[in-house]
Amino acid sequence: AVPLVVAINTTMAAQNGMLIRDRIAMEEARNLDTIVFDKTGTLTKGEQGVVDVATTDDWDEDEQLAVMAAAEGDSEHMIAEAIREEADERGLSVPGVREFEAIEGRGVRATVEVEAAATPGVDGDSVRDGETVHVGGPNLLRYLDVEPDDDLKAFADEAGERGQGVVYLLRNGEAVGAVALADVIRDESFEAIDALHELDVEVAMLTGDTEDVARAVSEELDIDTFFAEVLPEDKDKKIIELQDQGKLVAMVGDGVNDAPALTRSDVGIAIGSGTDVAVESADVVLVENDPRDVAHLVQLSRKSYRKMQ
Ligand code: ADP
Ligand code: MG
Repeated sequence: AVPLVVAINTTMAAQNGMLIRDRIAMEEARNLDTIVFDKTGTLTKGEQGVVDVATTDDWDEDEQLAVMAAAEGDSEHMIAEAIREEADERGLSVPGVREFEAIEGRGVRATVEVEAAATPGVDGDSVRDGETVHVGGPNLLRYLDVEPDDDLKAFADEAGERGQGVVYLLRNGEAVGAVALADVIRDESFEAIDALHELDVEVAMLTGDTEDVARAVSEELDIDTFFAEVLPEDKDKKIIELQDQGKLVAMVGDGVNDAPALTRSDVGIAIGSGTDVAVESADVVLVENDPRDVAHLVQLSRKSYRKMQ
């Protein structure tokens, strides 16, 4: 028979948005030393966002973003989506586009339609009607043999150190502005990490992304340790390393490539919106897709099993 306490706490878990697939793991959750989070899709949204804008003197941020969003209008690239989203959030009216060409792996070229009356903030002084602009990354600059000025170079260097990518706007064969793009951290992640620290649990992050990106996200979220540039097949080795240090370790992930680490960890926790493979490899599924439920799990485990002793 299922002990009463277990039955009660499985029900409580369900009420708290957790699906318990393995009761033993649920019991072990109260003793966890370290919780390792996958970065992309778990702590971050898996999309990019504009975090900084650099303009040249005669060019204002909103004007520049409206033109960049226009040029990116027909692109399906994640970068294009981020730029359009930023223009949208700022409530900018984006000019129309007459011609558009994607320059594969580099950026876009577009002929922007400017009607001063229809496009507040974008007038004939900044962009001529029918002017052709380019938007693209550093490789587009190399392709077109364009050298950014010292200010834009400094902007790009600083963004690079923070692990952010830079995309430029070009007019008349000259870089006139740029935006920096970064991983968008999920709002819930901040509280999720704080709550675990309150419970005296150490928090680590695991990612295939670069050292710079991992450091930037870790610092922002106040994560204790990170492992960067980890190949998918090596994710579980990091869990083993921590266990070899005598730690009881949970892994929180969403992807196919998190499955071996979820299986290997003492408590494998899948984020609800994750892939089937992740869910099937996990001991607990966070149905609400909310990383804050990791702390709730530890709390619930501590409460339930204290009663049992
Ligand atoms: P990835 O999938 O790594 O972004 P791509 O080949 O799609 O690779 O693009 C490589 C680089 O080219 C991007 O990092 C960016 O700098 C630039 N790029 C490509 N498409 C666009 C676009 N639509 N807008 C701006 N930059 C772009
Ligand atoms: Mg992921």
